[in-house]
Amino acid sequence: MIVRLTSEQLRLLMDESRKNHPIEACALLFGRLIDGEAVVTRVVVMPNVLKSPTRFEADPQTVFNAFEQADRDGLQFMGLFHSHPAPASPSVVDIKYMRLWGEAVWLILSSNDGNMAAFQMINGDIHEVTLKVEAV
Ligand SMILES: [Zn+2]
Repeated sequence: MIVRLTSEQLRLLMDESRKNHPIEACALLFGRLIDGEAVVTRVVVMPNVLKSPTRFEADPQTVFNAFEQADRDGLQFMGLFHSHPAPASPSVVDIKYMRLWGEAVWLILSSNDGNMAAFQMINGDIHEVTLKVEAV
């Protein structure tokens, strides 16, 4: 799997992570699957209602609204973004939740060092996903 982001989306995610550090920032990613690639066309930033440096949770109504809007606009759910003050790899808690989100892409940004990586769980195994950022 390849995930495509624009440099503008990347900047937005970096800013969110910086602003919230060490609290985890989170966002939903919507877009289209084109030739097997997840092309992100919409990033919806979600306030972390837990205000935690190790966990994130968005308000259910906000999540619902984002999914409804995406559906109206013909966009598919591509995955979740979150930052954490740890290396850019899934934590034990993340792995637990990855099991609940099917094959959604998990984009993780370390708010310590600014590294970003993406992962996907397929049949219970975690795979790293290639991230491609296009300049806009
Ligand atoms: Zn995490």
